[in-house]
Amino acid sequence: MSITAPKVNERDAGARTVPVGRRDGYLCRMSQSPTPIGVAIFPVTPLQQNCTLVWCRKTLRAAIIDPGASVDALLGAVAKQGLTLDAIWITHGHLDHAGGAAEMQDKTGLDIIGPHPEDQFWIDGIPAQGQLYGMPDARSFTPTRWLGDGDVVTLGETIWEVYHCPGHTPGHVIFFNRLARFAQVGDVLFQGSVGRTDFPRSDHASLLNAIVTKLWPLGDDVTFVPGHGPTSTFGAERRSNPYVSDAALGRAPIARPANGPA
Ligand SMILES: [Zn+2]
Ligand SMILES: [Zn+2]
Repeated sequence: MSITAPKVNERDAGARTVPVGRRDGYLCRMSQSPTPIGVAIFPVTPLQQNCTLVWCRKTLRAAIIDPGASVDALLGAVAKQGLTLDAIWITHGHLDHAGGAAEMQDKTGLDIIGPHPEDQFWIDGIPAQGQLYGMPDARSFTPTRWLGDGDVVTLGETIWEVYHCPGHTPGHVIFFNRLARFAQVGDVLFQGSVGRTDFPRSDHASLLNAIVTKLWPLGDDVTFVPGHGPTSTFGAERRSNPYVSDAALGRAPIARPANGPA
């Protein structure tokens, strides 16, 4: 099922920003022009998590990635953009990313797609996390569809590749649109940093391995939205990220199994 918002022309849909929470949402500038997708970012929760609205510019079908909270405001933003929401996509089971998914599903009937089943224990823990972090209404849920490495999700006429990138959480996935040269990577990689790995079942070596073997092969020109903070490109991070730049990893090569991926 989906909800349909009043239509505006595509030019308007690509030019608007709308207030959500304490900050205005903003449109992500795409390196590829003309681009087949639109991207708007809405920081939500006290952690300013980058809830990301993506859409097919031809059909105006949209998905909302990681609605951590502010569900009514996000649905209002979708309507103002003139988009039809098709699905809720989840990168991983942390409260700030998935805490609003159950409420959004209740209000829209939309499918929840992702993350990877290894994050079930994080999703089950959302109510307890919510009590601790001032989001007492956050609820757990059962995804309509779990995702795995190599899966594909479609949105209107656009195709999104799914990569399993464990390390920050064991069931973290990222979404990649090859034509648009765009990825939403959640808490795997940030501008100038990488995801925390001090949580239960986090693993720093797995995280670095996922970045090098899953993200870097997608291309230096890929623009990414991280789970928090500003956007960047994989190439910029390979040049300057203190944790995963080519130079940093050259000085301290990560351990890989002898017969593992190159
Ligand atoms: Zn996280
Ligand atoms: Zn986060």
